[in-house]
Amino acid sequence: MAVSSDLLEILRCPVCVREVEDGGHLDLTKEVWLVCRNCGRKYPIRDDIPIMLIDEGTRWQTTAVDALPATPPEPVS
Ligand SMILES: [Zn+2]
Repeated sequence: MAVSSDLLEILRCPVCVREVEDGGHLDLTKEVWLVCRNCGRKYPIRDDIPIMLIDEGTRWQTTAVDALPATPPEPVS
């Protein structure tokens, strides 16, 4: 089961949806990452659940898309 396209349609980067008009659109990458088109934050999908936490997205913001792991690691607590 992958994340449904309906869900992906409505998901937005929680930072840019507030700061950019019609911002925060996400691109699904490697099937388990949602990359914000505005800020480059990357939100992992774990067990088919998108983790839309700003801290998580920021953690991967400077990581190149090509360098993202194929399986998102567990969050740092
Ligand atoms: Zn963003």
